[in-house]
Amino acid sequence: MQTNILGYPRIGSNRELKKANEAYWAGKISLEKLQLTARQLRRQNWETLHNAGIDLIPSNDFSYYDQILDMCIMTGTIPARFKPLMESLVTPSSPELYFAMARGYQKNGIDATAMEMTKWFDTNYHYLVPEFDSSQKYRLLHNKCLEEFKEALFLGIHTKPVLIGPVSFLLLGKIKEETLQESNLLDQLLPVYITLLQSLQQAGATWVQIDEPTLVLDLTPAQQELFHHAYTQLREAVPALKILLTTYFGGLQDNAPLAVQLPVDALHIDLVRAPEQLDTILASLPQTLQLSVGVVNGRNIWKNNYEQSLQLLRKAVTALGEKRVLIATSCSLLHTPYDLELETDETVLTPQIKNWMAFAKQKVHEVIALRDIIAGNETLLKANQATMQEKSTAAIIHKPTVKARLAALTTADAQRKSAFPIRQKAQEEILKLPLFPTTTIGSFPQTEDIRKLRADLKKGAITQDEYETAIRTAIQDSVQLQETLRIDVLVHGEFERNDMVEYFGEQLEGFVFTKNGWVQSYGSRCVKPPVIYGDVQRNAPMTVEWSSYAQSLTDKPMKGMLTGPVTILQWSFVRDDQPRADTTLQIALAIRDEVTDLEKAGIRVIQVDEPAIREGLPLREADWQSYLDWAVKAFRVSVSGVEDATQIHTHMCYAEFNDIISNIAAMDADVITIETSRSQMELLEVFSTFRYPYEIGPGVYDIHSPRVPTVAEMTALLEKAIQLLPARNIWVNPDCGLKTRKWPETEQALRNMVAAARNMRMAVTATV
Ligand code: GLN
Ligand code: ZN
Repeated sequence: MQTNILGYPRIGSNRELKKANEAYWAGKISLEKLQLTARQLRRQNWETLHNAGIDLIPSNDFSYYDQILDMCIMTGTIPARFKPLMESLVTPSSPELYFAMARGYQKNGIDATAMEMTKWFDTNYHYLVPEFDSSQKYRLLHNKCLEEFKEALFLGIHTKPVLIGPVSFLLLGKIKEETLQESNLLDQLLPVYITLLQSLQQAGATWVQIDEPTLVLDLTPAQQELFHHAYTQLREAVPALKILLTTYFGGLQDNAPLAVQLPVDALHIDLVRAPEQLDTILASLPQTLQLSVGVVNGRNIWKNNYEQSLQLLRKAVTALGEKRVLIATSCSLLHTPYDLELETDETVLTPQIKNWMAFAKQKVHEVIALRDIIAGNETLLKANQATMQEKSTAAIIHKPTVKARLAALTTADAQRKSAFPIRQKAQEEILKLPLFPTTTIGSFPQTEDIRKLRADLKKGAITQDEYETAIRTAIQDSVQLQETLRIDVLVHGEFERNDMVEYFGEQLEGFVFTKNGWVQSYGSRCVKPPVIYGDVQRNAPMTVEWSSYAQSLTDKPMKGMLTGPVTILQWSFVRDDQPRADTTLQIALAIRDEVTDLEKAGIRVIQVDEPAIREGLPLREADWQSYLDWAVKAFRVSVSGVEDATQIHTHMCYAEFNDIISNIAAMDADVITIETSRSQMELLEVFSTFRYPYEIGPGVYDIHSPRVPTVAEMTALLEKAIQLLPARNIWVNPDCGLKTRKWPETEQALRNMVAAARNMRMAVTATV
């Protein structure tokens, strides 16, 4: 049986690529140096897979920035605004154009904004969105794919080049002009793909992997037809090249009949996400096709449960015979960190927990192990069974009190004491806020000084006492500034937080952190997600001290700031031995305790941020509601332990919310602050048809740019808002937290924001 890896992480085991890219952008290293680093990284990856004994080793899974951007360059999909730059360059494929498209370009009289970035399916990886306009002439601008195949061949390693398929490339992009049609664009792209594939065939490639992950999405009949059309043409053009068509991140479902009929040589399916699809696929797979069975999870950091994987593999082998089955990772390993063996600090990651984990390199060995077990190696299976057995009863994972509390949850726990109108009155009486109350989203600028404080504390360069004194000073200054600016509901500034998830994860039981567990988020940006390994429990208050201290400095209401359960889940590696909903509810219970403790400490306004609630939406619309049901329930469990007069806020950003607005309302938060200013209050349109019953602060200040918005601009946005929402319900606030901004612009922008709120108050009282 053959083994197949869909893709490998490329940032380097010590983030070498990130560092080299950034050094190159800063002009600190030469292009040759950057290219050398890249070559070394590719070589290391190939050798790792080769030495492990993998049969189908990917190439062209490397990328300096993003594989979709690579595809744009390869096919000549260059947005019109980069034309002047492209024409000014000697080689159009030069890194200058490439990085300009990724990061924007402002030089030599050219001013072109970067390509838009968006989430890659339901991962935390972000890709650059191809833009299709009528100025483009599709052609093989740069055959990176062939170059990397040859590079590996030169090292003695025969690889399987990986490409994003033409249909997914098209469907994941944005068509910029209404006159352009998908089928027409596909016809323009196909010749480029054909040239590319022919060059691979000619160079001696045996297999090519063509990724069509959009096959796991809801497709229209016209979009399904694109697949037929494309693959018929590709097949004819390269009869001698074996095409492995890959799908991942979900099941094929209604697209299965289409997928199995495409004229390719092998189909890859993700059996981690959708094990139930195996039967259907086995029953309908034509004789001519091989099946690549994705059983080793490319999306998490847990050891594979061999017994479970073997059940699936054996079923496939029984139906198809060993020769037709490939053992594979579920998707590319891009979404996992490099190598667990680099985690050597036992105080960070105990040997017990480490023994439950597998990073990319370990997962490669799991694929091999599964092959060997099927060939008769009992020892490997026994060892894995022992680990799984130990894990299923480990006391640090399974906490009876947490499980009991979860089991005892009732609907009343997800329900505030009274309905919103009653709460609103109670809150008005206590808080006595003006119309158009002003507030901010939580964080204030994380200056160099603030970050240094945390680093110094970690290094032991300052004592805990010194650290806390410095944080207290920062809070004092921010409170004083907010009072001077006459903001109505204050925040402490979140100076003590490194990150909105990590800060809580570090204080909760059931979480563990790695030292080097980086995964690429986009370009050179990497994240190190917390790992939720066991039942979650809060041992002690997490934020009460800082919030009470901040409240003690002012008579105005001080907002308590917490991260919501769905966001904590969404931005972590999550345990795979219980449903995500259960893990989220456990986190919700921990947050609930924090919320009630804040209330007891005299905090009257508490914000529970859920910026990630929308990005958790399943890929298929039919699955949305069941997700939203538990996500909304988890939020409600976290905030429903308080009295009517305690005002619960939530905050959301990064996305469009119009399609889930009724679920946002179901969260029953007294106030929501929400990102809108970049889309010029597009969000508000929904309120002309949906009567949102709660208070709402549509962001009037775009914090993603250093630009200071004027009073007039913000007043105009608020005027739009009062057309659609009752004035009594409107709050005035920025789009999001201010941690990435600098103080001077922040101060000026907030001063203008308060002035805009005042304008509105005067205008409204004048008309009454
Ligand atoms: N309270 C957080 C902050 O202000 C919210 C961040 C976010 O929405 N991503 O930083
Ligand atoms: Zn935000």
